[in-house]
Amino acid sequence: MKPCFGFLAAPTLLTAFLLTTVPTHAEDLPQHGPAIVPAYMEHSVRPGDEFYLYANGTWEKKTQMRPDRAFESPASDIYDQHEQKLQDLIQNAAKAQDANSRRIADLYRSFMDEAAIETAGIKPLEAQLKAIAAIRDKRQLSGALGKTLRADVDALNMTNFHTDNLFGLWVAPGFDDSEHYHAYLMQGGIVLPDREYYLSDSDAMKEIRTKYQEHIATILKLAAFENAEKRAARIIALEHAIAETHWSLADDNDVHKANNIWKPADFASKAPGLDWAEYFRAAGLNKQASFYVWQSSAFTGESALVASIPLEDWKDWLAFHALERYASVLPKAFADEEFAFWGKTLNGVSVEQPRWRRGVSVVDGHLPSELGRLYVQRYFPPEVKAQVQAMVSNLIAVYRQRLESITWMAPTTKTQAIAKLETLYVGIGYPDRWEEENYEVKPDDIVGNLWRSREAKYERERGLIGTVVDDKRWCMSPQTINAVNLPLQNSLNFPAAILQAPSFDAHAPAAANYGAIGAVIGHEISHTFDSEGSAFDSKGRLRNWWTKDDFAHFNAVAARLVAQYDAYKPFPDLALNGKQTLAENIADDAGLAAAYDAYKASLKGQAAPEQNGFNGDQQFYIAFAQSWAAKLRDSALRNEVMTDTHSPDHWRVFEVRNQDEWYEAFDVKPDEKLYLAPNDRVQIW
Ligand SMILES: [Zn+2]
Repeated sequence: MKPCFGFLAAPTLLTAFLLTTVPTHAEDLPQHGPAIVPAYMEHSVRPGDEFYLYANGTWEKKTQMRPDRAFESPASDIYDQHEQKLQDLIQNAAKAQDANSRRIADLYRSFMDEAAIETAGIKPLEAQLKAIAAIRDKRQLSGALGKTLRADVDALNMTNFHTDNLFGLWVAPGFDDSEHYHAYLMQGGIVLPDREYYLSDSDAMKEIRTKYQEHIATILKLAAFENAEKRAARIIALEHAIAETHWSLADDNDVHKANNIWKPADFASKAPGLDWAEYFRAAGLNKQASFYVWQSSAFTGESALVASIPLEDWKDWLAFHALERYASVLPKAFADEEFAFWGKTLNGVSVEQPRWRRGVSVVDGHLPSELGRLYVQRYFPPEVKAQVQAMVSNLIAVYRQRLESITWMAPTTKTQAIAKLETLYVGIGYPDRWEEENYEVKPDDIVGNLWRSREAKYERERGLIGTVVDDKRWCMSPQTINAVNLPLQNSLNFPAAILQAPSFDAHAPAAANYGAIGAVIGHEISHTFDSEGSAFDSKGRLRNWWTKDDFAHFNAVAARLVAQYDAYKPFPDLALNGKQTLAENIADDAGLAAAYDAYKASLKGQAAPEQNGFNGDQQFYIAFAQSWAAKLRDSALRNEVMTDTHSPDHWRVFEVRNQDEWYEAFDVKPDEKLYLAPNDRVQIW
């Protein structure tokens, strides 16, 4: 489960403009391809002391962070080119006559036409703001909250637990009925990325809160609200109260805590406060027989706040959230304030991305399938699909062998694990069936376009509830540079865009391809069996298919991995959270080990060719480390440590410590900092 790259994936609505692109500018350095690049390495560092810097130290030293970026990587030029490719597709669409091309071109134009945006002012939001102002009582408030429900969260595939609406809807196969789509409801209501931003005592978080309160007041003032400061104080107080009811990210990731089936009548008794009948009526869910309530106590807490907090505070909260959600596409004064807060304060970026790049992310985010069709036609040759398919087959064969030879797993568990491997759907490049994106796109109405896009997505997902599951449905667009495991469907998606340099190159040595994309494929397959994958059987049902002893062994091994990552400290006052990142760290551990075996198998007994004086095994591990080279601004790194279920890239590389073959490849000695005694190395599968 989860996209394999944390920071690249699924930016929230509010940060979408800032973080979707992750390029780099590496002066004097060769462009990074999948073959290893000796010029990035720092030979004065011993590989056993700091393997990330050994592989990437010179790149790290020479790379300047560009002012409009929160993140740099050696692949930045490639990411830049990728965006350029998407822009080309959009511009060519403007010349085409068919309806799909027209919509792509019109959506882009509606974002790029700053003069029209300036002229419209906040008029496109006036009807919404008036409706909020007209709310007379808590029953009407409940209806207004129901109307905001959107399909904007995703617990297990994209792992996006954030929505600024009171709650979020995720439509997916049921925990107990994997044959049909069900409705999952998730906590929401805060604008900052996570509860910790409201609750943490750290000075960095306190400062962000102060600036956030100023930001709320500024946005309200721009929209001509009176007493903006007082309203801002009440809005942040309400969000603070909501945050106190929220679950932590570590708890969100525990599916066993999430398996709470509530019937409509249960809401009033288990979570009194909100007028649930009115809420569900407004959301179009009043006929729904049951829901999975992901964070049950947060629903109880948030609903109680609807009763206890004054109506006027809730109305201010609704109005501010409506403005905040669209401020990036409102007139310049709003958009500049958005960047000042989200770009500068929250991510430390001093210069905004050029408008065309933000326009590309708007199209990418709101017409992903239509843009994807064009992308695949132009940039995804069938030969690449065939080659990657062969690598996937090798990886699956390795996993089968590894599962068969595990001594700690009971035979019944092994049989079921292998059944899971055999029924796994691996989507490569693009889906067989494209998603419908039916909504009206107008060339001069960006706010309306985004509104209709979100509404159409909600209606599409709502319409799926109760219907038969399509196990081959994708959750990522082909032009996304990422990969994902979908546990409830027992499937993987490898979009076309990740099957290019720097992750994969048809002409690179096998060592480099297996160290880069091979480890990613291995990572995704591992999720099928890991701490959460073990909770879902070969049909995607939430069913414990492990024995007690299997779990006891697994948990003991996992605890050692938690301790290993808890000990990494990117900042003196902030360590990684080994529990929050456990499933991803296990996937890195297992994925790297499996990719190594598959690499060796691909050699078919032949010796690997040397490259720049490195033997095949050395190339494999250096390619792995170089594929994670990345520089982040401190504020962005803090954000990642607190809110991401992945370890930051630098620390993902330290996974090599758990691989016996890495010690041999670099002759790592006990006095070196990353050295672990053989018994302390964690091997899961
Ligand atoms: Zn992952």
